Amino acid sequence: MNYSCDFLIVGGGVVGLTIAHQLLERKISNKIIILDKEVELGLHSSGRNSGVIHAGIYYEPDSVKAKVCVSGAKRLKEWSIENGINIKNCGKLIIPQKSDLDPQLDVLYERGKKNGAGLNFIGAKEIEKLAPQANITTGRALWSPNTAVIDPLSVIYMLRKKLESRGVQIINSARDWQLYQKTNQVVLKKGIAIKYGYLINSAGLQADKIAHKFDVGLDYKIIPFKGIYWQLRKNSPFNIKLNLYPVPDLNVPFLGVHFTPTANDNSVIIGPTAIPSLGRENYKLFENIEIQNSINDFAFLAKQYFFNIDGFRKYAREQAFLGIPSFFLRSAQDLIPRLNQSHIERSSKVGIRAQLFNLKTNKIVKDFLCLKGDKSLHIVSAISPAFTASFSFADLIIDNYLIQDINK
Ligand SMILES: Cc1cc2nc3c(=O)[nH]c(=O)nc-3n(C[C@H](O)[C@H](O)[C@H](O)COP(=O)(O)OP(=O)(O)OC[C@H]3O[C@@H](n4cnc5c(N)ncnc54)[C@H](O)[C@@H]3O)c2cc1C
Repeated sequence: MNYSCDFLIVGGGVVGLTIAHQLLERKISNKIIILDKEVELGLHSSGRNSGVIHAGIYYEPDSVKAKVCVSGAKRLKEWSIENGINIKNCGKLIIPQKSDLDPQLDVLYERGKKNGAGLNFIGAKEIEKLAPQANITTGRALWSPNTAVIDPLSVIYMLRKKLESRGVQIINSARDWQLYQKTNQVVLKKGIAIKYGYLINSAGLQADKIAHKFDVGLDYKIIPFKGIYWQLRKNSPFNIKLNLYPVPDLNVPFLGVHFTPTANDNSVIIGPTAIPSLGRENYKLFENIEIQNSINDFAFLAKQYFFNIDGFRKYAREQAFLGIPSFFLRSAQDLIPRLNQSHIERSSKVGIRAQLFNLKTNKIVKDFLCLKGDKSLHIVSAISPAFTASFSFADLIIDNYLIQDINK
């Protein structure tokens, strides 16, 4: 069987789906095929994240993230309301978990203000009113009223439904496809050949490997970091109605263990960790372990630690061991001091971050990154807040890359 399309999108996560959505909305093309290797959509980051619609606080003002987060959040909220998806507009408190982190609140405030996040300082009385059990370390915190929570899978399933109803073909279980770059073709194992005008690689955790097939991004590698979640037990004495976040280490793009009330029920998830993972899809303890890859990744991270690149020793001290329950509890207690082990239980939710590193400079890539290939675009870094930002990120990708390339 043979197909042809203007755009072949490899990866049906939120990034690939919203690009397809915007290509349709902007009437650029309606001949779009999306390939995903899994039996259903949402089995990786887009279906396994915290569901926080970020307000745009953390990002350096000249970054791509900063450009698309605030407008992306607004658009995701509007689109979700239009499509009947529940949003919990619960806001977020950022509390310095140690008093020496208090000055970081000013840095975050300035960044948030420049990015248009809309946030303000509050004092001890207001902190107590909003989150009675929270740690009032220095008597002040940042309040972000625009932060919200959504069920990420509802977004993915609705995007799929909408796209399919408008003629986008989504092919699942498309695992071992072959690329024939000279003829702009991809051939699936089932014998299906797809001729494309332009290929968009939005394959999340596997995006670097696909880019390498095109000889693109050879200096870059994704190292997976596992996000384990716990949750408050139903009978715990805490009633947390908003997002409660620590002050993050801004050297690394991980926000630290936080409390998030879920959108569709009354549970509160705690996490995620950001610990080096034994495989890109190692969601369960012994599942999909990649031994050789992990040895290489750990050797690379050891080098980061040894030379303290990007302040990596601080990350290692504070976050690398949060897979150990007592360490995790201590980190959560920084925000809720009265929390003890009997109040929490492991959640079945686990996500893995696709963290990109530049192997030439040894630097962590903190921003979104797209790399051009021949008749192809490779979105090799779409870490948090790509879920929040997706609609605006999709437009940025179309404007900055696709339009120029397809008009050549
Ligand atoms: C633990 C965790 C918490 C997070 N929390 C938040 C949050 O609260 N708010 C927020 O905004 N962001 C959050 N993020 C980030 C957000 O989830 C991601 O930025 C976003 O989901 C990335 O989407 P994606 O489409 O690039 O990747 P994915 O969702 O991973 O999609 C990639 C798709 O490509 C497919 N694929 C891979 N290889 C192939 C192949 N060879 N052929 C065909 N298909 C392939 C996969 O099956 C997958 O469906 C979090 C991420 C994690 C891991």
